[in-house]
Order: sequence, then C-alpha cells, then structure tokens
Amino acid sequence: MDCWHCRRNAVGVCRFCGRGVCEDHAETQPFVLELFKGKDVTRALVVEDALWCKVCTPRPDPVDLPELDS
Ligand SMILES: [Zn+2]
Ligand SMILES: [Zn+2]
Repeated sequence: MDCWHCRRNAVGVCRFCGRGVCEDHAETQPFVLELFKGKDVTRALVVEDALWCKVCTPRPDPVDLPELDS
C-alpha cells in the first residue's frame, strides 16, 4: 500500500478511515475503542496515539444512528 499523501511505501494504516500513510505523514489522534455507559456519565476506553492520516476528520463523539434501531 502507498502513502495517501506522497505515494511512498506506507508504514501504517489510518485507524479511522483505512488510508495508508508513510512515517513522514503519519499523525496520531485519540481513538475511542469502547464506550461504557455508567449511571451518571459515559466513560470511554481511548487509545491516545492511534495512527491518523490527517485527511479524514474523526469526530470526537460517536454519532447517533437511530435508523439502525429497529
Ligand atoms: Zn507520505
Ligand atoms: Zn484517515
């Protein structure tokens, strides 16, 4: 796989969208692995330095998908 930005060999894949990135263009972003619904507050299990391509825009919060509830 090639880097999305410069077509060099990618060293990794964006955790959020799956684009390839080389070491020059890899960034990190916190990635929410799992959400825990507590009584008062929702807690998240987060990877602080997940690989990110700088192209996609991960949202800080999960998105509601009410159309999937049936
Ligand atoms: Zn690159
Ligand atoms: Zn991405």
